[in-house]
Amino acid sequence: MRMIFMGPPGAGKGTQATVVAGRFGIPAISTGDIFRANVSEGTPLGLEAKRYMDAGEYVPDSVTNEMVRNRIAEPDAEPGFLLDGYPRTLAQVEELDGMLAAADRSLDVVVVLTVDADELVQRLLKRAETSGRSDDTEDVIRHRQDVYTEQTAPLIDVYRDRGLLLEVDGLGEVDEVSARILSALDDRGSAAS
Ligand code: ADP
Repeated sequence: MRMIFMGPPGAGKGTQATVVAGRFGIPAISTGDIFRANVSEGTPLGLEAKRYMDAGEYVPDSVTNEMVRNRIAEPDAEPGFLLDGYPRTLAQVEELDGMLAAADRSLDVVVVLTVDADELVQRLLKRAETSGRSDDTEDVIRHRQDVYTEQTAPLIDVYRDRGLLLEVDGLGEVDEVSARILSALDDRGSAAS
């Protein structure tokens, strides 16, 4: 199973990605988490990424693509993986297509979590009280949402055209949303077979 998780900042992507990947026994690969780990370890990659993350901008594709290329080549990703937060630009979509084609692999599904915009800001501000993330301030949150709308939302059409899209309502309790995603994946699986 090779899947992508998409959704605006605050949609609860990371939380759900972990649950769903666990269910399928595949690694959840979060580009945001990998960047943050590099920032806290003070690696050169972390130093480079931090400038962009703190401003709510995307890290340059060249940096992000290489990181993902290396990560999905690890042995634990051989049976499959769930990408959380990648691809986020059309250039990243093409890059991922190339990586998969080179390994004679393909994507199974792209899950998009949909959540109302006002609800998103509220959630993120709440998370900011405890996350300690330097990009969880109101200005940066709003900017991250604009960047998502401009650069990432167009990917939804690309994957819809490929027949890979699975849109799931992200509103509700964590367990409720997990159950919704798993059942949508299940329906899709039985429809395909
Ligand atoms: P959120 O979903 O709340 O935006 P993430 O943890 O997924 O948070 O990402 C945090 C930051 O990491 C992004 O704002 C961006 O700077 C950087 N980042 C993560 N994934 C990518 C990516 N695929 N391309 C470019 N930058 C990325």
